[in-house]
Amino acid sequence: MVNIVIFGAPGSGKGTQSDLIIKKYGLHHISTGDILREEIANQSELGIIAERFISKGQLVPDELIIRMLAEILDKAPTEKGFIFDGFPRTLEQGEALDKLLKEKGTCILAALNLEVEESELIERILKRGALSGRKDDNLETAHARLKVYYSQTEPLKEFYKKQGKKINIKGTGNIEDIFERICQSIDRIIK
Ligand code: AMP
Repeated sequence: MVNIVIFGAPGSGKGTQSDLIIKKYGLHHISTGDILREEIANQSELGIIAERFISKGQLVPDELIIRMLAEILDKAPTEKGFIFDGFPRTLEQGEALDKLLKEKGTCILAALNLEVEESELIERILKRGALSGRKDDNLETAHARLKVYYSQTEPLKEFYKKQGKKINIKGTGNIEDIFERICQSIDRIIK
């Protein structure tokens, strides 16, 4: 199985690039943000709790999100592999993901780290908010999310570096060029 983590700050293009990756490589896309937004739309028990955190730009607690991910993995097709988009976001989630995949006899092959400068991240988040109406894509929440990213999610860079799995990708320029860089990395690791 080809299991890949796509990693980066909010607004770094994880969702956009994931859509292109799944089309080309046939991987199963797991976006915890998309799943949570669906839970909120359905006003499920998880959705109601998650909304309180998401609206403030905070992370949904590890315990809830890890349980949610474990259930999704159990139901997901396992022929080709997964692209994990927006998960893991904490060291605890990274360790949990390794453990869950190990139980299934597989592992993460690479963590693609999309690198984008902060001023561009904010610009992209505000643009997306205006286009999609995503409630957490406003200036105040964007700053809160970036702060959370630097304190809670960035330590994962070291986690994947130590495992020899971190691949830095320049996340600026046009979408096709970024995707081309990603493809070169994926093709190298699956060969
Ligand atoms: P995203 O669409 O990936 O930017 O996620 C939107 C929001 O959902 C985040 O700001 C978090 O509040 C929440 N969220 C998504 N994935 C996770 C995760 N792995 N752990 C905790 N919270 C998450």
